[in-house]
Amino acid sequence: MLYPKPETLKPPRTDVLTVSPWLAPIVWEGSFNTEILNNQFRQKGWRVGLTTFAIKKYIRFLKPFIETAEKFFMVGLPVNYYVFTDQASNVTDLNIIVGTGRQIIILEVPSYERWQDVTMRRMQMISDVCQQRFASEVDYLVCVDVDMRFQDHVGVEILSDVFGTLHPAFFVKGRDKFTYERRPESQAYIPEDEGDFYYAGGYFGGKVEEVYKLTNHCHHAMLTDKANNIEAIWHDESYLNSYFLYNKKPTKILSPEYLWNEMDGTAFYLRKIRFIALQKNMAEVRT
Ligand code: UDP
Ligand code: MN
Repeated sequence: MLYPKPETLKPPRTDVLTVSPWLAPIVWEGSFNTEILNNQFRQKGWRVGLTTFAIKKYIRFLKPFIETAEKFFMVGLPVNYYVFTDQASNVTDLNIIVGTGRQIIILEVPSYERWQDVTMRRMQMISDVCQQRFASEVDYLVCVDVDMRFQDHVGVEILSDVFGTLHPAFFVKGRDKFTYERRPESQAYIPEDEGDFYYAGGYFGGKVEEVYKLTNHCHHAMLTDKANNIEAIWHDESYLNSYFLYNKKPTKILSPEYLWNEMDGTAFYLRKIRFIALQKNMAEVRT
């Protein structure tokens, strides 16, 4: 395999932070070589699962989500799409076609009345399936929202023991602007003078065992809070942020290239916009 030698004194990106203080790489276009990573991945024979939830009205996002994943997500590699839904037959009726080596697996789950519970219970449902089937079917999991569209390459460069994603609204902001849970009574509490990054609830993943630890931890933190009549300000996202902070966890961090908002246009440091959150009428889609 031929490629240019990495130059110690010529970092490919000097305009953005490419490593965290605990030495987790932050993934930006230009900082990695896809061919090297794909070779390594194929040699190991790793398998990837992409989990998403399409509950109640969010089923409308599923077809474009998977169809764009077919064009941009782990292209040329085997992928299991795990779709958690309360409407299995409606998912089947969507007739979504995927390429060879790729398959859609429908997991029927209960729906909750409050949208906050729908998003928070994802932690419980993912952790349950880790033991039941993810452990035997895939090596890595990528867990994302469904109200999204892929529009550029997302490949094995995202994979690591446990990865998190910089929230597009906060990565240039100070700690005081982070919307961490600030009530000490909550399991998700983070004091004003702590915190590295503000991570997005809708995009994390890693080895199955690590995703199990993460989701199981967050689910139990949420149960404890529920028993104490408190719910963190941004639901599962708040618990995820405290898990990452106190375990110095992400072993890799995805830049906002991997999670951007449709309405935010572009920015000079973004060489690619890979995955975008679609604009939606919150009030309409959540009721
Ligand atoms: N979700 C769902 N049905 C609902 C509410 C949420 O399936 O009624 C799932 C869906 O996968 C969605 C995710 O939970 O993408 C997170 O919710 P949402 O996208 O509304 O949160 P936001 O990105 O707006 O913070
Ligand atoms: Mn979303």
